[in-house]
Amino acid sequence: MNHRSIAIDGPSGAGKSTLAKKLAAALGFLYVDTGAIYRTLGLFALEQGAAPGEREAVLPLLPKVSIRMAYGEDGLQHMHLGEEDVTETIRRPEVSAAASEISAIPEVRAFLLEMQRDMARKNDVIMDGRDIGTVVLPQADVKIFLTATAEDRANRRYLELIERGNATDYQTVLADIIERDRRDSSRAAAPLCQAEDAIRVDTTGKTLEESFQLLLRIIQERFI
Ligand code: C5P
Repeated sequence: MNHRSIAIDGPSGAGKSTLAKKLAAALGFLYVDTGAIYRTLGLFALEQGAAPGEREAVLPLLPKVSIRMAYGEDGLQHMHLGEEDVTETIRRPEVSAAASEISAIPEVRAFLLEMQRDMARKNDVIMDGRDIGTVVLPQADVKIFLTATAEDRANRRYLELIERGNATDYQTVLADIIERDRRDSSRAAAPLCQAEDAIRVDTTGKTLEESFQLLLRIIQERFI
């Protein structure tokens, strides 16, 4: 049976994961956070003392890593690195930077591609990332490109980090967002860009509920 798929791409902090999670619950789809997969590999590189941006240091790690995704009773995606549940650890700012660096290596992207496609073969998915509509699921039924100004995104990320108990300041978060945007958009392998057939949604100044209702309408129109 063919499963339905929704791709949500866009820069960091545009609200992809919060909105995708909410949409998945409303639609009865499985939410797949692909950034978490890159983050887990980035964490592994850090733990192994390898520079995540150095291809020669990272490639020998690929045959050794064991990354597993599991869905808890809460329906939420948990990431396992070996035996360890790293769902929380991968949210640390140093892991964000490692994920962004490691994801620029073409062999890393190829290595993680099948894992992502397999999820979509087996489930109705709403998948968020940077290259879902362009590379991972080019046949997705609905493609959304979610964006917002860097300041708006930094503000959301800042509040999120504070809520998680991470000590940080707004200027650092903004600088980090701008740097990740630059790296994600300028890399040669599957850069962050809008698929030709994606619908662009700008969440600047919108509440979560407004953005959610807008996306739900767009998706429902496609599936009717
Ligand atoms: O979405 P999130 O911020 O958790 O992703 C962490 C990093 O992983 C991003 O900055 C990006 O470099 C990378 N990523 C990617 N392709 C995806 C998802 C994430 O390159 N599909």
